[in-house]
Amino acid sequence: MNTLMTKQFQAIRGMNDILPAESAHWQLLETITREVLTAYGYQEIRLPLVEKTELFARSIGEVTDIVEKEMYTFDDRNGESLTLRPEGTAGCVRACIEHGLLHNQMQRLWYAGPMFRYEKPQKGRYRQFHQIGAEAYGMAGPDIDAELIALTARLWRRLGIREVTLQLNSLGSSAARAAYREQLVAYFTVRQGELDEDSQRRLRTNPLRILDSKHPTMQAVIAEAPSLLDHLDAESRIHFEALQGLLDTAGIAYEINPRLVRGLDYYSQTVFEWVTDTLGAQGTICAGGRYDGLIEQLGGQAVPGIGFAMGLERLVAMLMAAGQAGADPAPHAYLIAVGDTAQRAALALAERLRDALPALRLRMNCGGGGFKAQFRRADHSGARFALILGEDEVNAGALAIKPLRESRSEQLTLSQDQAADWLRTAFENLKN
Ligand code: ATP
Ligand code: MG
Repeated sequence: MNTLMTKQFQAIRGMNDILPAESAHWQLLETITREVLTAYGYQEIRLPLVEKTELFARSIGEVTDIVEKEMYTFDDRNGESLTLRPEGTAGCVRACIEHGLLHNQMQRLWYAGPMFRYEKPQKGRYRQFHQIGAEAYGMAGPDIDAELIALTARLWRRLGIREVTLQLNSLGSSAARAAYREQLVAYFTVRQGELDEDSQRRLRTNPLRILDSKHPTMQAVIAEAPSLLDHLDAESRIHFEALQGLLDTAGIAYEINPRLVRGLDYYSQTVFEWVTDTLGAQGTICAGGRYDGLIEQLGGQAVPGIGFAMGLERLVAMLMAAGQAGADPAPHAYLIAVGDTAQRAALALAERLRDALPALRLRMNCGGGGFKAQFRRADHSGARFALILGEDEVNAGALAIKPLRESRSEQLTLSQDQAADWLRTAFENLKN
């Protein structure tokens, strides 16, 4: 026996393969999201997966979970510190400043793709995960906040996702937040004995984040903490009330959650999350907010910004649980070719059919086999028709067609020139 087993590789922990059985759900999610974003006037921006580490440290914040312990950071061959993007906003703002997209312009943008965070992998929380995000620049009023929220609400409707609620809060201006922060520190200092280890640390570094703690033992002390909403500056209060009015008028339900703070430092004023309790502990499917100071902080003009990002793994889990979208559609037809002559002719015939019918899902038998074996594959493929090419058909420029799904399944023979027309008639949806 050979004791030297060949090493079998496994994917990196927390980084998933998305297999064909799941990819139909991903495609449905991506297609509908793209449609909705486009309908609202958002344009796609494609960004690199890697940025300078400094970009994330300066935007997300030095004392956030992401920057402190979740980034995949490495030195490139020149000794420059680079990081796999943990989120999309920083890179998007960087690109907009770099390409002058923000000079007296309003921009509505979206992006999609993988993000990387070194987290403890668990259901709904991975090290490579995927987001689709939208960002809107140059608009300071609550109308754009409401539009972004309406867009996400529509998206859930389009996807058939029902069990989600919208949580809303305002973080106020940074000055108001600083005053609130002092009160919060005073409060938590008195009750320090009730804080878990993480929160003890955050009390010194980033006390607002304590409100975000998911730790069960922390919930009582958090519930009794002073409320951010009692400390809003006048401008933020007016903005927040106007937003609520817009949502009321549009019939979009929300809950105000004064403990909602978000894990990234760049937010100000409006923040929101869509949450569900159908997914277990990781119930936030979409999160966002306003970040009016970020663009200036990254060296651009003082331009207001707002955006959200949704977690695709969690949304796919919801779609699959709801039984949305089936598997990939079966082929319309399966091309059987038996014998050397027919096998040599099959590709050219298949290509002619594809030229004539670009939407035709035609599966060509590859790998040879006799009639019986090829018929078995045709049947297994779920195709409605088998197209049969034998030596006789090739010589006569003909093609036999056998229905595979009808109870009465008489075979017929056509000339190859007629085959495309015949298929077009058989499948309404191939007409284009
Ligand atoms: P959490 O509090 O759950 O860590 P977060 O505040 O870090 O969330 P955001 O940075 O706001 O999350 O990301 C937006 C969305 O992306 C989340 O609401 C979630 O749906 C998804 N997401 C974030 N991190 C992960 C992850 N590690 N794996 C899968 N999805 C994630
Ligand atoms: Mg996180």
